[in-house]
Amino acid sequence: MNLNRKTAVVAGAGGFIGSHLVRRLKEEGYWVRGVDLKYPEFSETAADDFIIGDLRDPAVWSAVLDRPFDETYQLAADMGGAGYVFTGDNDANIMHNSALINLNLLTLAQERKVGRIFYSSSACIYPKHNQENTDNPHTAEHTAYPAYPDSEYGWEKLFSERMYLSFNRNYGLDVRIARFHNIFGPDGAWRLGREKAPAAICRKIAEVKHGDEIEIWGDGEQTRSFLYIDECLDGIGKLMKHASFSGPVNIGSEEMVSINKLTDMAAEIAGKKIRKKHVEGPLGVRGRNSHNDLLKHHLNWTPSKPLRHGLDITYKWVENQVKKAREEEGENYKS
Ligand code: NAD
Repeated sequence: MNLNRKTAVVAGAGGFIGSHLVRRLKEEGYWVRGVDLKYPEFSETAADDFIIGDLRDPAVWSAVLDRPFDETYQLAADMGGAGYVFTGDNDANIMHNSALINLNLLTLAQERKVGRIFYSSSACIYPKHNQENTDNPHTAEHTAYPAYPDSEYGWEKLFSERMYLSFNRNYGLDVRIARFHNIFGPDGAWRLGREKAPAAICRKIAEVKHGDEIEIWGDGEQTRSFLYIDECLDGIGKLMKHASFSGPVNIGSEEMVSINKLTDMAAEIAGKKIRKKHVEGPLGVRGRNSHNDLLKHHLNWTPSKPLRHGLDITYKWVENQVKKAREEEGENYKS
């Protein structure tokens, strides 16, 4: 290892955001150690060193942090899209697994040199009752309390945020916390239940012919904003470089769209006319948008690329995945 280079650990480096983050840090000249239960699914990891291990086990964290690091990025979590988080079937695992990962890191962080720690929280921490209106959801950072997230996933994130802030207050740990709002892009889950809305909709459209019907969960009028991965990485970088602002701060787009509008946009990119069949499904809150005043104030920056830009890239990537999977799996292809 070149001793003059900055060094970083990325926990969750086999996942969607983690694998992109490793690539970005490498481009910036870092020496990077990744750790995850698995290697990235869609591309080779760019990490200099990659440990396969279960971060619920403190011994794995101990092996990962066997030397001083300048920065530690904690993105590992038991998570998925609405089909994983909102059915209730995975609540115990989501809470237990993710909390353990964070507890283990913080326990060790007092005795090892972990540098500045980045923790990825989520827009899912915001109270349900502030997001019942499709046009006017409230997600300014201070509205997190009194707390009432709509999922156990959100409660765990809130608990862990508070834990990182407590370790900062009591033990001087240098932490940075971002609340991500629906990050999307290539190399993310696109089928089998853990995918988020943009990838799921792109897949459904890629699977059908012009004029066919696709299923949309709910009436499709529920609103969200989606942030393309590159701008998420820009935000992480700016927060990590800030001298003193710990967050929590939203990292998301303020371009709010309904799921119906997102579907129309993806269909237009695909060049297909699509009919929507609205069916029952796990939905989450009625409306959600990022609120970026605090981000703008402290980082003097907000994401600026239109949704269409990232969706264009993502649709093409998903379409290619569908094509490849169908060729390889034939009749066994499952979405
Ligand atoms: P992801 O599921 O693709 O990545 C998470 C990674 O953590 C996976 O590769 C998984 O294998 C790994 N992991 C889970 N349990 C582990 C364990 N016990 N030991 C080691 N590794 C383990 O998810 P992502 O979209 O890349 O999200 C990264 C982080 O950002 C997560 O903490 C997530 O909660 C948060 N977040 C993401 C979004 C989003 O829109 N993608 C939104 C809000 C918050």
